[in-house]
Amino acid sequence: MIPFLNLKDLNASLRDELLEACARVIDSGWYIMGQELRAFEQEFADYCGSRHCIGVANGLDALTLTLRAWRELGRLQEGDEIMVPANTYIATLLAITENGLKPVLVEPDEHSFNLSPEAVRKALGPRTRALLPVHLYGRLADMPALGRIAAEHGLLVLEDAAQGHGASLGSRKAGNWGDAAGFSFYPGKNLGALGDGGAITTSDPELATTLQALRNYGSHVKYQNLYQGVNSRLDELQAAMLRVKLRHLDRQTARRQQIARHYLDGMNNPAVQLPIWERAEQHVWHLFVVRSQQRDRLQQLLGEAGVQTMIHYPIPPHKQQAYPELNAQTLPLTERIHQEVLSLPMDPSMTDEQVSRVIDAVNQARL
Ligand SMILES: *Cc1c(COP(=O)(O)O)cnc(C)c1O
Repeated sequence: MIPFLNLKDLNASLRDELLEACARVIDSGWYIMGQELRAFEQEFADYCGSRHCIGVANGLDALTLTLRAWRELGRLQEGDEIMVPANTYIATLLAITENGLKPVLVEPDEHSFNLSPEAVRKALGPRTRALLPVHLYGRLADMPALGRIAAEHGLLVLEDAAQGHGASLGSRKAGNWGDAAGFSFYPGKNLGALGDGGAITTSDPELATTLQALRNYGSHVKYQNLYQGVNSRLDELQAAMLRVKLRHLDRQTARRQQIARHYLDGMNNPAVQLPIWERAEQHVWHLFVVRSQQRDRLQQLLGEAGVQTMIHYPIPPHKQQAYPELNAQTLPLTERIHQEVLSLPMDPSMTDEQVSRVIDAVNQARL
């Protein structure tokens, strides 16, 4: 079976460096909020081109705490509307509703899968206060156009960059387009820890300071609490793992791009619609997602041919039981996308031979 993502082999290729970093943390005697975190925050801020990085426990917290910080700073009020792509992962919505804010689900652009600036313009209302674009599948959302809308209407922009480490347009990377960006370092993400992890990047010093307190019980100074904060910290061990993995990220992204190029050049099944890749952009291919009207059959045939696939995602957020208040909404494009998408193996440790076998399996699938 060609695995969808072989994390074991991917991390094994960095075993010596990871073990050395582990030993450094063990021997330091300091495990929370120490020099590994500070160093990683600096290195990741530099990587993204933002001024600040604040490590937190996971990607959901990165988004949730940023919205919470804007509430604490008076930039958002309960009931304010935040626009999100309707076809995102549910965590994007959870961050909004957790803060007493209202998600406005916007249909994506059919070709990029990302938040459509035209649809955003149509959905603007008197309570719209922020945009929450997602760099879905590793492709940067249309940040220039969304930035113009935000500037015209005085909206905050929070990037959900959980799938977009290193994605860029020109020399400007994900994490450096919005007022802030939330990243996930879940093990399967392009920059993955060996456990949970997340971070916010921003160039706003006031937001950075607020987040530093919120993640640590609401405290900047030990035993003095400005906010009713939470405990959401990126621990030293994960920060040390991430420092190692950050050094290999661009090389792994280049391999993802090579695989995507092979897939795009080699696949020619008329019943399978391939993703688009405009060369001006740095698509980081977190996922390689094809579409087919016979998606379930395609998944079955690929499975029989020894190719593991996944669906991102089978049920859109507005049809989840967790959101009964959204269930009545009809979002035809989003619903069709969820019925048609299939994610093929995308793993920097894949061999060329495995890549060819995936291409052959797709081309030979009789749909
Ligand atoms: C993974 C992911 C998250 C959540 O990150 P966690 O670290 O798993 O909490 C949020 N948004 C998107 C788009 C994601 O893919």
